[in-house]
Amino acid sequence: MAKKEFQAESKRLLEMMINSIYSQREVFLRELISNASDAMDKIYYRALTDDSLTFDKDNYFIKVIPNKEERTLTIHDTGIGMTKDELEANLGVIAKSGSLAFKKENEIKDGFDIIGQFGVGFYAAFMVADVVTVISRALGQAEAYKWESEGAEGYTIEPAEKETVGTTIILKLKENTEDESFDEYLEEYRLKAIIKKYSDFIRYPIKMDVTTTKPKSEDDQELEEISEEQTINSMVPIWRKNKNELTKEDYEKFYQEKHYGFDKPLKHLHVSVDGTIRYNAILYIPENMPYDYYSKEFEKGLELYSSGVLIMNKCGDLLPDHFSFVKGLVDSEDLSLNISREMLQQDRQLAFIAKNLAKKIKSALQSMQKDERENYEKFYQAFGRQLKYGVYADFGANKEALQDLIMFYSSKEKKLVTLDEYVSRMPEDQKYIYYATGESKERIEKLPQTEMVLDKGYEMLYFTEDIDEFAIKMLMNYKEKEFKNVSSGDLGIDTDDNDKDSEAKQEENKELFDAMKELLAGKVTAVKVSKRLKTHPVCLSTEGEVTIEMEKILAAMPD
Ligand code: ADP
Ligand code: MG
Repeated sequence: MAKKEFQAESKRLLEMMINSIYSQREVFLRELISNASDAMDKIYYRALTDDSLTFDKDNYFIKVIPNKEERTLTIHDTGIGMTKDELEANLGVIAKSGSLAFKKENEIKDGFDIIGQFGVGFYAAFMVADVVTVISRALGQAEAYKWESEGAEGYTIEPAEKETVGTTIILKLKENTEDESFDEYLEEYRLKAIIKKYSDFIRYPIKMDVTTTKPKSEDDQELEEISEEQTINSMVPIWRKNKNELTKEDYEKFYQEKHYGFDKPLKHLHVSVDGTIRYNAILYIPENMPYDYYSKEFEKGLELYSSGVLIMNKCGDLLPDHFSFVKGLVDSEDLSLNISREMLQQDRQLAFIAKNLAKKIKSALQSMQKDERENYEKFYQAFGRQLKYGVYADFGANKEALQDLIMFYSSKEKKLVTLDEYVSRMPEDQKYIYYATGESKERIEKLPQTEMVLDKGYEMLYFTEDIDEFAIKMLMNYKEKEFKNVSSGDLGIDTDDNDKDSEAKQEENKELFDAMKELLAGKVTAVKVSKRLKTHPVCLSTEGEVTIEMEKILAAMPD
């Protein structure tokens, strides 16, 4: 039986495809620029193996030309171009990628940046254009060809004039409708913003004539508008540069350019990994908390690039919640992208990168804590609560990662101390890590329960935030030392409440205590003699795991 080919309603199929692949229309420009960059990379690659070719970087650029009168947007490149056959094969067949074929033919595996692979990006042009015209002259060819299409109706190819090798793509923008306007793609500022957003690190200059106002002459006040060719993209990504050539200021400038925050970062990390999964990352520890940090609106994540092209603005999977304050980006050539290049096909590589980055962030914070304590305290002021939430979350699964990063105010040092510092100062006979809870330091200082521990000369930690005691309960212990609330029944200090002496006193005053208990019925479970008090007549204490402070917080929580 003869096999029949599938027939497709190609117009509808094309429309369905371009409208379902991309979440934002503006990415059409990213796609066309990526193709132009690929086309120039191909010449570069050819020149490596072909002695008759030289690659002079100055000759390779992309130019974006809006024309309001004609309602056209032109993207011009000096790349390898396409022959008649190639126009037919690459632009006439959806999902055929000349670039993927090029990579395979030339056995290009790594260290090389050709972006294309799916053979659909070009058609993104039809999201904004009614008519797409491609005029191309291939390397080594004398004649040029014009490919033209009004979408899925099909396309025409005919000979054309073109003086230089390369490709010019002309988009006739769609007419505005009541709900949609395409005018923005003719505006310089808008085009500049789109180029910056997605294609800032394309390695060839992306040029555009930009209107600026300047004084007519040096000693003239009068201004005139002139059009000036500018390179819009930064080209070399900072993360591809050598760390030794970069200064702290370079990283700070990048932080500001990227609008990661209005503050100056406290610390930056520049990570380059050349293992099974290669990636570069630039990460920042901000100084200030974003205004919406502890709100539902806040979205964690790093920017994700693949070969210098932005794939995702906020990739949340790259950061654990407890490090959600970290800003920055990751660039990897080894990601398997899905067809829209907006998502990943599998998250194995991502999980691998995330795990490594979490380790790096932790050690960066630890070295800051050790060597730049003042900065660490600033950081902790802003984000310490998030670390403590991290200790509490996931049933203490992050204990190892976080227990050394958290700090509490100390009775001895009168400043924030780490658990390690506390434990290393503990005298031989001290069994527990003591803490007291309260709304503020001042309130804690007035607590009668603290007297015994402080009198004994032991260090005490102040827990003034809701989360503190919950977090510590998840930790259970630090370096095998358990935590003890100074309000709890048994403090593990020699003069125990339950010695003979106390027992006798308890008996003697049984009637009084019983009367007190009756008076406070439902509020206390027992009234006892205590030896822990020095200057205060009475104090509250708890038995079991849930302390008074925790009970208060639990009671205040919405069901
Ligand atoms: P992809 O880039 O994923 O391969 P596209 O649909 O974006 O898919 O492009 C299809 C093919 O058309 C490319 O692989 C390339 O061979 C060719 N192509 C597109 N634009 C250009 C260009 N500006 N110069 C040379 N070839 C191009
Ligand atoms: Mg492409």
